[in-house]
Amino acid sequence: MKRIDMLVVGGGAAGMLAAVAAREAARKRQIPDKDFSIVILERNALPGAKIRISGGGRCNVTHAAEPDELLARGFLNRSEQRFLRHALHTFRSDDLLALLDRQGVRCEARPDGKVFPVAGFSASDVVHALERMTEERAVTMETSCTVGAIERLEDAFAVTAGERTFTAAVLILATGGVSYPSTGSRGDGLLFARRLGHTIVKPSPALAPVLTMEKPSPMLAGVSLRSVALIASAGGKQVSRRGDVLFTHRGFSGPAVLSLSRAVAELFRTEGSCRLFADMFPDLTPDALQETLLLETKRNGAKLVRKFLQHSQGAPPSALIAVIMHQAGVPADVQLSGLARASRLSLLQTLKRFPLGSVKAVPLEEGEVSAGGVSLTEVNPKTMQSRLVPALFFAGELLDYAGEIGGFNLQAAFSVGYLAGRSAAGLRSR
Ligand SMILES: Cc1cc2nc3c(=O)[nH]c(=O)nc-3n(C[C@H](O)[C@H](O)[C@H](O)COP(=O)(O)OP(=O)(O)OC[C@H]3O[C@@H](n4cnc5c(N)ncnc54)[C@H](O)[C@@H]3O)c2cc1C
Repeated sequence: MKRIDMLVVGGGAAGMLAAVAAREAARKRQIPDKDFSIVILERNALPGAKIRISGGGRCNVTHAAEPDELLARGFLNRSEQRFLRHALHTFRSDDLLALLDRQGVRCEARPDGKVFPVAGFSASDVVHALERMTEERAVTMETSCTVGAIERLEDAFAVTAGERTFTAAVLILATGGVSYPSTGSRGDGLLFARRLGHTIVKPSPALAPVLTMEKPSPMLAGVSLRSVALIASAGGKQVSRRGDVLFTHRGFSGPAVLSLSRAVAELFRTEGSCRLFADMFPDLTPDALQETLLLETKRNGAKLVRKFLQHSQGAPPSALIAVIMHQAGVPADVQLSGLARASRLSLLQTLKRFPLGSVKAVPLEEGEVSAGGVSLTEVNPKTMQSRLVPALFFAGELLDYAGEIGGFNLQAAFSVGYLAGRSAAGLRSR
């Protein structure tokens, strides 16, 4: 049985930063490395599987913003914002960028705030940089090592991985969420946490595509609606998100869909059904849209309705215009002056609430992240230490939060990991 001072389960963003921060804190307190062993146990042969596939292999590593702005943009749920505030102030996006820079991985922010490694660097370079950081800090990384059970002893944890058992004075669980299980994140940490006495909020999809009962026409697969308002409606409730919507072979994806998917999944679960609509002109009220149409009819009555739609500001994609007109019952070749009042009202109604279909599923395993996890109420946000089990810490996506797209989830994993590692090292007496 191997005795370890600090054991981290999971070699992802959160686990690796936890180990790095713990060693830095210990060295600051002049604790010799040999007197404070830090070990990461990782199921895969290589750490950081999710980072490698993040941002389509480019890795949107963080978001360039002050912590409070980052929280407001990246985390829409107030209780999650409150929980993450201290971690994001303790380890900021510029702290992360400085660490990566020291390893030779330079990053730059895009105009929308998303930060990526500069050209020539990929997500794998980010993982290599993190691995080098752990090596430089004398952290042992045991790969191909799947933890199967954790038991609380009187003054330590017994952690079993296959034939081996480790005892750890301090334990950090950083096993990730439950989406993309092929990356190794399969929810094991949630089972361990539950057995140790923690409440688990049932995992649910977030940043996931939405599948519909009626598959979109194959001709529309790949077509994007730009800057629409995506609306999900069920049982008299309605939620919406502005952004791009992508037609796929099975339903819908794209930024607005991914962002709204958590709320769609929740509506679908509680109401039993949910319908999706797109407002093609979210900046215009129905009256303002009608006025624009009437004004153009007065000026240019001979213009075809479809040409008017094609050339209007924020126009729907050409591939969709025929579908919209068919849906509204407007003949393909009618001129603006030939549009009867009833047809005009039907067209306006369709443009403001174009039906995309009924939700069939929001696949949990296909989300970039999963919501749910270890209940935040049982974890101290100032340290990431369990409020229930002494010397137990949590880090990363296994906690019950989920951010938006834009580098927020990785930054949260790094920040929470850093705080957990630093706090855990603080338990070590000199
Ligand atoms: C396709 C995709 C693209 C993404 N793109 C971005 C992006 O560009 N920007 C962004 O901010 N976020 C992105 N994310 C989200 C982001 O990658 C995650 O939120 C983040 O990696 C979570 O970090 P973590 O350390 O908490 O968990 P994980 O990265 O999931 O790490 C957990 C680790 O624990 C290991 N583990 C689990 N159970 C055990 C066990 N029993 N024993 C030993 N080891 C175990 C796993 O193998 C894994 O390596 C993306 C996610 C996906 C799926």
